[in-house]
Amino acid sequence: MHPPYDPQNIFAKILRGEMPCMKVYEDDAALAFMDIMPRSEGHTLVIPKTPARGLLDMPAAALGPYMQSVQKVAAAVGKAMRAEGLTIQQFNETAGGQVVFHLHFHIQPRWEGVALKPPGIMGDKAALEDRAALIRSAF
Ligand code: AMP
Repeated sequence: MHPPYDPQNIFAKILRGEMPCMKVYEDDAALAFMDIMPRSEGHTLVIPKTPARGLLDMPAAALGPYMQSVQKVAAAVGKAMRAEGLTIQQFNETAGGQVVFHLHFHIQPRWEGVALKPPGIMGDKAALEDRAALIRSAF
């Protein structure tokens, strides 16, 4: 069992507009924005509007629409970044590598021979804004 959903988590604050984000896409099911510590150029997060801590407590009825949004964002990110591939990651609970406890999928553009950067390194704001603009125009 995992703890209950905490509405004070940072992604909940972003959803409520209490914290800023570099938004690239929004629909009824999901919000997508740049990861501020990108592990590859164009690293984007897609979060559901439905409150869920991880994949397992996401209501089944909301999961389908959310995953359609994840797929749509992944396609736009890949196109915008001219990616050769995409790594899509989703972590559950601390032991599973989760740090922010609102469900999210990582969309990481990949190129042959280019390794993911280590986690926890803050991205350059201007570069992130540049990538965000590219991605917004790819929908
Ligand atoms: P994880 O829960 O392990 O999937 O990691 C959370 C991810 O959210 C990390 O990749 C962080 O860089 C990213 N992150 C944390 N805070 C923010 C924020 N305010 N805006 C955008 N990305 C964030």
